[in-house]
Amino acid sequence: MQSRYEDVGAQAAIERWGAHGEAVALRVYTSRLIGQDPGLVLHGGGNTSVKGRRRTLLGDDVECLWVKGSGSSLDRVEPRDLPALDLAYLRRLRTLDQLSDEEMQNQLRTHLFDASSPNPSVEALLHAFLPQTFVDHSHADAICVLTNQEDGEAILRDAMGDGVLVLPFIMPGFPLAKAVADAFERAPTAHGIVLAKHGLFTFGDTARESYERHIELVDRAERFALSRAEGRVVSFSSLTPEESRERMGTVGPVLRGLLAERRVDADTKRVVLELDDSPATLGALGIEDAAALFSTGPLTPDHVIRTKAMPLFVHAPAWGDPSRLAEQLRAGVSAYRDAYDAYFARSCKARGVTRTKLDSGPRVVLLPGLGAIGVGATKKAARVASDITRHTLRGKVLAAEVGAYEALDELDLFDMEYWSLEQAKLGHATPRALDGQVALVTGGAGAIGAAILERCAASGAHVVAVDRDGDRARAAAEEIDARFGCGTALGVEADVTDEASMRRAFDETCVAFGGVDLVVANAGVALVAAIERVSAAELRRLSDVNYIGVALTIREATRVLRAQGTGGSIVVNASKNVFAPGKDFGAYSASKAAALQIAKVAAIELAPLGVRVNAINADAIFAHGEVTSGLWDEVGPERAKSRGMSTEELPAFYRDRNLLKTAVQAAHVGDAVVFFASGAVSTTGATLPVDGGVAEAFPR
Ligand code: ZN
Repeated sequence: MQSRYEDVGAQAAIERWGAHGEAVALRVYTSRLIGQDPGLVLHGGGNTSVKGRRRTLLGDDVECLWVKGSGSSLDRVEPRDLPALDLAYLRRLRTLDQLSDEEMQNQLRTHLFDASSPNPSVEALLHAFLPQTFVDHSHADAICVLTNQEDGEAILRDAMGDGVLVLPFIMPGFPLAKAVADAFERAPTAHGIVLAKHGLFTFGDTARESYERHIELVDRAERFALSRAEGRVVSFSSLTPEESRERMGTVGPVLRGLLAERRVDADTKRVVLELDDSPATLGALGIEDAAALFSTGPLTPDHVIRTKAMPLFVHAPAWGDPSRLAEQLRAGVSAYRDAYDAYFARSCKARGVTRTKLDSGPRVVLLPGLGAIGVGATKKAARVASDITRHTLRGKVLAAEVGAYEALDELDLFDMEYWSLEQAKLGHATPRALDGQVALVTGGAGAIGAAILERCAASGAHVVAVDRDGDRARAAAEEIDARFGCGTALGVEADVTDEASMRRAFDETCVAFGGVDLVVANAGVALVAAIERVSAAELRRLSDVNYIGVALTIREATRVLRAQGTGGSIVVNASKNVFAPGKDFGAYSASKAAALQIAKVAAIELAPLGVRVNAINADAIFAHGEVTSGLWDEVGPERAKSRGMSTEELPAFYRDRNLLKTAVQAAHVGDAVVFFASGAVSTTGATLPVDGGVAEAFPR
């Protein structure tokens, strides 16, 4: 590992953030250098600080500590993410014999210089009690490899040499802050401290000194570990994209269904998955003692709230025998839950505390022959678990070559997992109607498709835009990602009339998210032609897309929903033409009528699975934002001509024609989909008009 400190970068930081003082600007610069190296910290891990002076409103010149706040990541840290604290006061806290976590948080919050600051790091007092200007803390992989050892202290002394203190594990908070300060006072020439089974602290008078000491020590640890690992290399292995897709297409829905939490008096709490099938991960899972080596605690307790203490390791998955594989997963998840509940009860008893148990399911599932699967309430959380796991597997393999991997013991991990200050990091967002759901929308690149995707994403769902035009499907997904966060959407090219293509689209959805809960059969085509002039080819084309396409979409959805076993919702976008047909629209109306009829049959057939099938009859939707409706592009000119008006006048004509005089919007269809998918009303086989009220099109 090499220092990435550059004078030009430091200078640029001073120019950009100099208004906060040069020390803070450089603090931001080197914090980012640490945060941008996944070998040092992952996803919000680690923290940094700088000490200086600032002037109060009354003109007093006081000592100040800027320390990383909760909720930000070092790689993108800004000056506002470093809350400023009254350092002289914080130092005085060291004289206390004890300080509870809650009171510590209260002391930190009440000694901020800016009341709107985020909560300072739980390790803020540790930074405050050390005398040096700059302090850097990470959970570097290489340090964790050396400290998570049966013989960790001796190995560390061997590897790190003089000048580095090694402290036994102590929970972060006041006692750790005091222990670190005491240790440093006994050895004031030390320039780094390794906290056993946790991570590394370095310090210095300048930002550069503290950062470069950090890199130097991690580099030393890395070289030491690699020198011991010589000659033993994990063989990389890989799957073809097809193999990976097929295996995840089988595993994803079963696993996702097993991991969903069925709750009394509340909706089922669903999860999404993130597969890491990289050659390094597959190779690690293929080593001889993989099960024993990886069924161990995390590299650092900082990871516990993201990954739980233990992963679920599935022994010798029966690839090629889906029912046996499903049984293995079922048994594995069930055993995991039992073990977790036992660990929880055991730990509460040993500590003499009562806590509210978190859900019992795993956050990481390891499947030799497929990869590591991260589990989370959101794609973001699943990715965090997956990223941490990639580093963890590599770290444990290396640790096993250095000596014998030994994680922190169970009770210490329990303390971290159930520490209120750690759980607070996860945040509690306001629940939304489709949280945890995955929605697949055919015709996703069109006007109504775009609106459905948008409304579903706004309601908390992850969405898949399926369209025959792959570029437009991916563009629609990118737009959703830009608005609702990276990883929210996937764009897939598929043709609803092609069985293999639709199967692949659902498998790709399972690779991306693990499964699906809401499927909207929205793709459709229109044609204006009197029956006496319509060709057989045109009739077949309309029937293929509008009817057979819907039927195949329902069929593939059923395959995944059945494997998942957590119910679900299918919504068919029919048409008000089904109830109120118009001339020259026979091929279209008849194909839509068939689609509505098969939706009703599906409602009957799928009810035992808890899958609801409903339809929406929309009328006169011309566009959604920039995207114009394909249907109206097709039929608009003819319709306008027959009514003796221009195409621009059509929207006003249709608005004034309905009972509510409403311009029906694509977003209204999106909201209707969310209404059905939310399960707010227990109904199936229903048809909901979204047309502003058209009496002749009332469902009957
Ligand atoms: Zn830490």
